[in-house]
Amino acid sequence: PLLDKFAKYPLLFGPSPISKFDNLSKALGKKVNIFAKREDRNSGLAFAGNKLRKFEYIVPDILAGDYTHIVSIGGIQSNQTLMTVATACKIGLKAVTVQENWVPIPEAEKATYDKVGNIEASRIMGGDVRLVPDGFDIGLRKSFQDAIDDLKAQGFKPYPVPAGCSEHKYGGLGFVGFVDELIEQEKQLGVKFDKVVVCCVTGSSAAGIISGMAQYGREKDVIAIDASFTPEKTKEQTLRIVNNTNKLLGLDKTIDDFQLDTRFAHPCYGLPNEGTIEAIKFVGRTEGVLTDPVYEGKSIQGLIQLVKEGAFEEGSNVLYVHLGGASALSAYSSYFK
Ligand code: PLP
Repeated sequence: PLLDKFAKYPLLFGPSPISKFDNLSKALGKKVNIFAKREDRNSGLAFAGNKLRKFEYIVPDILAGDYTHIVSIGGIQSNQTLMTVATACKIGLKAVTVQENWVPIPEAEKATYDKVGNIEASRIMGGDVRLVPDGFDIGLRKSFQDAIDDLKAQGFKPYPVPAGCSEHKYGGLGFVGFVDELIEQEKQLGVKFDKVVVCCVTGSSAAGIISGMAQYGREKDVIAIDASFTPEKTKEQTLRIVNNTNKLLGLDKTIDDFQLDTRFAHPCYGLPNEGTIEAIKFVGRTEGVLTDPVYEGKSIQGLIQLVKEGAFEEGSNVLYVHLGGASALSAYSSYFK
């Protein structure tokens, strides 16, 4: 694989497992065979998830300099900031995480939103968690630069990792590895996955998968489900990461577009719609698998809708990418009474 020339620091157990969602397939009329590749169970660090796969190709760059801190950014219940803290612990550095006010927190969650779930876990692991009031944006942020400047002023050497690891030069590589792994798993299972469905916000998970699939001429088989509610920005950023990653890999291919389904992100980033909650319960009750209201609840809602409306050929094998995130569920308890 083209990825072999890049240094990798192992943070995952190994290839992430693939579950067969037979019950869900059956409950949806047996039109397609649904499988899930379990990034939510990819590692023993904290609650695992997609960010660790990205960090595997970023950590060697961190270890090559004498950095003291990793600095990253996300919302209050961010998976990115949590997994930054866990990664820093693993490699013996400190973490500073900027936690912005990305979500209009429901009244019923206000008392606990900044205390439970992912932020609680960050605090347990000794993360220097900095709450700031700025709103949602997947791009590079002033509050992020402020944290970096602050550490430098104190004589430290911070290593910046942008939101979702996405705008990092190596941010797309981890999910190229996901695809190389998948190709091997297809051989072992004797199954070819006709479509791959993945949640998309800051873009590097989907971008890595698109680049990875492009190596095998299969980039058109990826369906991304937007959960940002700012789909133009997400699409533009994702395409940029795809083409940067292709260049890094030495893959002579320019990608101009990809399928981004924008129907499920409402009412905004970080809050579920009615269909999201229904989908979370449905998958929980049929498969015993948990998804969260911010990301995977929306992408599985998308998958279910696509099956229902006949978007996949009958009998096809559909791979759902479960990117993690269920550790934020306790910050959304009012939706599940
Ligand atoms: N799913 C989960 C659980 C996440 O934490 C994220 C992070 O943003 C995503 C999906 C979206 O992935 P990406 O930001 O790489 O587009």
